Amino acid sequence: MVAPIFVGREKSIRALEQAFADKSPIILSIQKEPAVENPSVDDIVRVGTMATVVQLYRLPDGSIKALVEGQQRVRIDSFASTSPHFQVLFSPLAGKAGKLSERVDALARVVVREFIRYVEGNPGMSEEMAHVVGAVTDASELADAVAAHLQLPFKKKQDLLETDDAEKRLLVLLQILVEENAVLELEHNLNQKVQDKIENTQRQIFLHEKLKAIREELENAPEAEDENIREYLRLLDKKQLGTAAAEAVRKEINKLKSASPMSAEVSVIRNYLDNIFALPWGELAGDSNYELAAVARHLEKTHHGLRSVKERVLEFLAVGKLLGKDQPNTTLCFVGPPGVGKSSVAQAIATALGRPFVRISLGGVRDEAEIRGHRRTYVGAMPGRIIDAISKAKVDNAVVLLDEVDKMDSDFRGNPAAALMEVLDPLQNKEFRDNYLELDYDLSRILFLATANDDDGIPPTLYDRLEVIRLAGYTFEEKEQIARRHLIPKIAVESGLKKSGVVFLPAALKAIIRFYTRESGVRELERRLRKIYRKVARRHLEDNLHLPVRVSAKALEDYLGPAPFSKERLERGPLHGASLGLAYTAEGGEVLTIETSVCAGKGELVLTGQLGDVMQESASTAWGYLLSKVENDAGFRNFFNKHAPAFDEEGKWAMINKDLRLHVPEGAIPKDGPSAGIALAASMLSAISGRATRPAVAATGEITLRGKILRVGGLREKCLAAVRTGVRTVVLPVANEPDVKELPANVRKALKFVYVDDFGQALKTLFA
Ligand code: ADP
Repeated sequence: MVAPIFVGREKSIRALEQAFADKSPIILSIQKEPAVENPSVDDIVRVGTMATVVQLYRLPDGSIKALVEGQQRVRIDSFASTSPHFQVLFSPLAGKAGKLSERVDALARVVVREFIRYVEGNPGMSEEMAHVVGAVTDASELADAVAAHLQLPFKKKQDLLETDDAEKRLLVLLQILVEENAVLELEHNLNQKVQDKIENTQRQIFLHEKLKAIREELENAPEAEDENIREYLRLLDKKQLGTAAAEAVRKEINKLKSASPMSAEVSVIRNYLDNIFALPWGELAGDSNYELAAVARHLEKTHHGLRSVKERVLEFLAVGKLLGKDQPNTTLCFVGPPGVGKSSVAQAIATALGRPFVRISLGGVRDEAEIRGHRRTYVGAMPGRIIDAISKAKVDNAVVLLDEVDKMDSDFRGNPAAALMEVLDPLQNKEFRDNYLELDYDLSRILFLATANDDDGIPPTLYDRLEVIRLAGYTFEEKEQIARRHLIPKIAVESGLKKSGVVFLPAALKAIIRFYTRESGVRELERRLRKIYRKVARRHLEDNLHLPVRVSAKALEDYLGPAPFSKERLERGPLHGASLGLAYTAEGGEVLTIETSVCAGKGELVLTGQLGDVMQESASTAWGYLLSKVENDAGFRNFFNKHAPAFDEEGKWAMINKDLRLHVPEGAIPKDGPSAGIALAASMLSAISGRATRPAVAATGEITLRGKILRVGGLREKCLAAVRTGVRTVVLPVANEPDVKELPANVRKALKFVYVDDFGQALKTLFA
């Protein structure tokens, strides 16, 4: 090819001029180190190009521009002279490559392709060159042409020049091209990245705008791409959400459409929608036209006794029926000790009405959000218990039991009772708002029932909404009946043994009730019976125990271990410094033995045995009464023994130097209430007077400072305990006479009742 060269050194200019004048060829060769100003022979590279000088131009600065045409690669053999310019002897390198082999041809084509890429990727090169090179057919020429156009370090170019084999040269070129192209690509990518960075901010603005537009578009577009979304829309169509709710839910579904599938938002929305669609939205169960008589029959079948409870339930339902409401304006609340059938009556009502039964346990609930749910902005937020119960029930008219409303607490997190009020208020519960749902839900079809162990614990505002039905404890005979007719058949089925698998001899059942349980209800009894059935089932399988098994009273130890309560017996002889009281605790009724002794001291009243505040007050009242009686009633002294501990040798009041210690055994059970007043007074009087009380006589009644005896509660429980323990006579306030009429006949028969309204009237019965 013809190429321009610029020459400045005197020596080189002279060589050019000489060659031009002589029309002789010139050898173009580079120096090894470009920095050397005056190269010697050894500084010249020995392989170069033979060229002819086509033209010479002298430039104004004295240098020369020459157009030279390359002819052939040559090797300098020796230098003939070095002045005024270099003169060399040379020989040509082995000439051109012969004809193209197939391999070289293929190689040439790859080189051309890579070269085209190189030209394209290199903004400094014109595309024309690709055409020029593409037109070359000779492999050697091709190699030279490509090499000429590459921007390479001179050392690489020299290598190419020195390689005379065309195939080798092509290979070297190919390697260079591939490397160069890779570098070009990298450069390109880097440029792109820098560019991207600059554009990013703008792009984000743009994308946000676009997203907004898409969202708007989607909100009006009914079709959903996603299977899930289609399902949600199908549910939305199917369920009877109100207009407002449906609108809100549709918005959520649209939000889901536009949210990125990987985002946390999606799971929050889906969780919400799943909660929404788990609700029944208008689905109802049972027949609203049910027959009261059928409910009555069912209650009769499933529950023994409880006559007044059943009546009250039926009256309640009758009112509801007349009003055409599922829930009349009050809520039934079953109050009574554990195991008396509060929940199971509620469950039976649900079954009789053909509606699902769900129970919400409120014991220990202190956070309003438990009732009403947490806002969705909280991590892990959930609907409250009410909504949760409805999801479980799957219908809007379930029977929902609010269990243990007396065990709720309130603190800084809000008042759960207030939230419950709203739930139960017929004016508000049509539009109950759960914090999580943020939608109104209709609770007015639900039949709410409640339970409590003790009505003192029910928050007063809530109490006003409740219609309390008391379930007292069962008598011994009732427990026997319940066990035979209800518990045993139920447990037999559950245990997999047939009803006839275990036969309880009457004495055995009695012994279980008397010596293995001490409770108002039948929960412990049920547990004991279960245990026997489990043991029998296991022995039947493992040891081939033959069925039916007859369980006798003697065999009980084998099944249940030693009886915990066998010693519950009353002392037979007169009691000194003691009396029997009747208490009503959370576990039911109980007979208390109240012991008092007089000992040296400073005139103090010392109380032990886990007595509650009210009971302690009651003890001081009783003591106050006795003191004033001694002081003001001369005749009262006649009641005292001759050597009564309260008087000294000379018959003077000696209690100033003595303590009165009062103890109620079985300290593990907390005892409280004013109703032991009369018994406390009796025990104290026995201690200070030296007179014994009668055995098997128990007393109940609140005492005042003037000795009046006031009405008490829990009489049924107390009398049941009295009978159970062997008490024969009960001293009680006149005011409680009506309660005695309500007692089961066998209890009334077993006890003698002595009514008093003043402590003085009780002395005759209480003291021997
Ligand atoms: P509560 O809710 O009052 O603590 P439950 O309803 O759990 O008591 O009753 C405990 C067990 O005693 C249940 O298995 C229940 O069916 C049974 N039960 C209680 N009272 C009766 C009754 N009068 N007739 C039949 N079974 C009863």
